[in-house]
Amino acid sequence: MGGSRQVKSDETVFEEASIKRLKAIVEYQAAVIRRQYDELQHTQTLFHRACTAAKVGVWECTLDNEMLYWSDSVYEIFELPKGSTVTRDLILQLYPEEARARLESARLQAIQDRTGFRLETEIRTFKGNNRWIRLTATVECEAGVPVRLIGIKQDITEERLLLDQTRSLAERDALTTLSNRSIFQAALKRIDSTQPDRNRVSALLLIDIDNFKDINDTHGHLVGDRCLIEVGQRLTTVVTEATTIARIGGDEFAILLDQQSDTTEIITIGRRIIACFDAPVSGAGRPVQISVSVGIARFVEQTSDDLFFQADLALYAAKEGGRQTFKLYEQLPESKNVRTGSVG
Ligand code: GH3
Ligand code: MG
Repeated sequence: MGGSRQVKSDETVFEEASIKRLKAIVEYQAAVIRRQYDELQHTQTLFHRACTAAKVGVWECTLDNEMLYWSDSVYEIFELPKGSTVTRDLILQLYPEEARARLESARLQAIQDRTGFRLETEIRTFKGNNRWIRLTATVECEAGVPVRLIGIKQDITEERLLLDQTRSLAERDALTTLSNRSIFQAALKRIDSTQPDRNRVSALLLIDIDNFKDINDTHGHLVGDRCLIEVGQRLTTVVTEATTIARIGGDEFAILLDQQSDTTEIITIGRRIIACFDAPVSGAGRPVQISVSVGIARFVEQTSDDLFFQADLALYAAKEGGRQTFKLYEQLPESKNVRTGSVG
C-alpha cells in the first residue's frame, strides 16, 4: 500500500479534461456522420430501386465537352455496361434520324431560352433491341451562362405497347381486325369538312354477305366467324384503292375509295369484289361458298349522311336484284332512289 502518488498540476488536469471532452465530441460527431452515411446509403438504395422499378434514370451533359453522366438505370435502358464512357455523338447514333433532328432542335432552343424540353422517341439499344424512351431536360446555368443539361430518361416501351393495344381495341373490330364502325363514321364525316386539307373520297361501297344467317345455321357460328374474317382479308387484298375498310355491323362492311377513282374504275372495283368470292372460303377447315352484294354511291359533294343512304339504297337494290351483284346509286331507276334516314 501507499505507492508514490504523482500529483498532477491543475494545468494537466484541465488539459486532460479538455482532451476527454473533445474526444467525446469527436466520437459523437463521428457517430452522427456514420448515421448520416448509413441514411444516405439507405436513401440511395431506395432511390436506385425506385429508379429500376420505374425504369427511369438521371442523365447530365456538360455543354463544353459534351460528356454524359448517367445513373445506373440509364445504362440499363440503353443496355450498356454500367459506368462505361458515353459521349453525345455515340448515343445519338441510337436515335432514328427524325428523332435526332427533333432532339437537336429542342436542345438548341432550350439552351437559347435557358429552359428545358421533353420528347418521346424510339431508340435502338447497344444490344440492338428497340425501345421507347421519354427524355426530359432542364438547362442549368452558372452566372447566367448555360453549362449543363440535366434530366431523366425513362423506358416507356410497356406504356407504348399498352397505348397501342388500347388504341387498337378502340379502333379495330376484334374479329376481323379491320377498322370498326366508329372509325368508319369518323372517316365518312370528314367529307363534310370545309377545310382545304379535307380528306375527300370518290365513292362509298357497302358490302353485305348474302344469306349469312343460313351459313351460320348450316355450318355453325364458328364457321360464320371464319367467313367474316376471310371476307375482311379478301376485301383488303382486292380493293387497294381504299382509304378505309371497316366492318360496320354483323355481316356488313364499308369501303371508302380514294380520290383517284372515276366511275369506270369504281365499277371495275365492284366487279372485282363480287369475283373475289368465286372461290369458296375455308370456314374452319371446310370450304364454304359465300357471295356478297354491293351498293355503291359516288361522292359528288353531297353530305356524308346522303352518301351513306345512297350507298344503302344501292345495296338494297342489289339484294332485291337477286344478290351476288353490285349496284351503283346513280344507275338506279327513279323509283328506287328515294329513301331517307340517317347514318348510325
Ligand atoms: P341477306 O342476304 O339479306 O343479307 O341475308 P342475311 O341472312 O345475311 O341477313 P342479315 O345480313 O340481315 O343477317 C346478318 C347475320 O349475321 C345475322 C347474324 O346472325 C349474323 N351475325 C352477326 N354478327 C355475327 C358474328 O359476329 N358472327 C357470326 N358468325 N354471325 C354474325
Ligand atoms: Mg347479310
